[in-house]
Amino acid sequence: MNLIGLNTSGLEAHLKEHGEAAFRGRQIADWIYKKGAADFSEMKNLSGALREKLGTADVLDFPRISKRTVAGDGTTKLLLEMNDGERIETVRLPYPDRLSVCVSSQAGCAMACQFCATGLSGFRRNLSTAEIIAQILLVKREGAQKETPTHVVFMGMGEPLLNTDNVFRTVELMHDEMGIPMRHITVSTVGILNGIEKLAQKKWQLTLAVSLHAPEDALRHELIPTSRKTSVSDIIAAAKSYVGQTGRRVTFEYVVLGGVNDSPKMARELARLCRGWPCHVNLIPWNDVPGAAFAGVKPEALREFRAILERAGISVTQRVQRGADVAAACGQLRALNEPIVREGIIPLSVV
Ligand code: SAH
Repeated sequence: MNLIGLNTSGLEAHLKEHGEAAFRGRQIADWIYKKGAADFSEMKNLSGALREKLGTADVLDFPRISKRTVAGDGTTKLLLEMNDGERIETVRLPYPDRLSVCVSSQAGCAMACQFCATGLSGFRRNLSTAEIIAQILLVKREGAQKETPTHVVFMGMGEPLLNTDNVFRTVELMHDEMGIPMRHITVSTVGILNGIEKLAQKKWQLTLAVSLHAPEDALRHELIPTSRKTSVSDIIAAAKSYVGQTGRRVTFEYVVLGGVNDSPKMARELARLCRGWPCHVNLIPWNDVPGAAFAGVKPEALREFRAILERAGISVTQRVQRGADVAAACGQLRALNEPIVREGIIPLSVV
């Protein structure tokens, strides 16, 4: 059995079933999640006999690191291969005061955002709890001291709120077993309404980030073709309900696309949606994706867009780009290593 993905009580139960003392389960949880062990032979406080027994009956099954690229700024992109050959990407982002991981929740993505490399590659399958937590454990092992990541963002490949069982279980493992504070975990969604509601009911103190990208329906539906049944006002209502249930402010992500959603008019509409309740806007200058029919935002347009929001009293930050030279920047992950299929890309009318 693969022991990655089991929590302490799951490991205790598993060990007991095999005639061992329950506390062995706690020790193993400690080795896997706190100390970052990748093999039973590293678990020094277990007897040789037990290590051998585990080695025959159980496995610590990690995806294979098939490629590692390190950017000039220290950002590391791992290309991981699953047992069935599916490939995903995970990004390690070291900062002076924190260590962030950008994890994938699915192989590919079905949301088809027209400006996103993963969206243009299509959906393969959900990742298991073990496959998601393994990304964080592998990132931990990348560090010289095997430092535990301090922050985790579900902003890699996939839509986390279409894989809620496994994503929620992974959040619990990160928090309960690895000691990552809820406030340092961000779940980013394209706006899956029932997923937002399920997450709200958990009452976790993590950050919900909702990808808005446009303050009005027509443009939003063009940018995110799968969002056609969801209106901007549905999204705002779901976000407000989330705030009401959790007491946490919501972040709106807004990928800024030159000449598409960066006009002063759009900024004013966005400000109107955000005014008067606890939310925050994170402006993400678009990272170039080869084959996508967009342009980056001009610095003056971005400055003006941001200034309009600020003047309206909206809390706003701007995403700092990292890892772009190894295509590890936000939205550039596309592990399938296939050329982007050009058919189906809707050329956008300029607004
Ligand atoms: N499915 C989730 C997580 C996706 S990735 C969601 O849609 O939120 C996290 C963020 O990166 C999303 O806001 C997504 O729109 C954004 N993104 C995608 N491609 C991008 C690109 N090329 N440049 C900048 N941001 C991008």
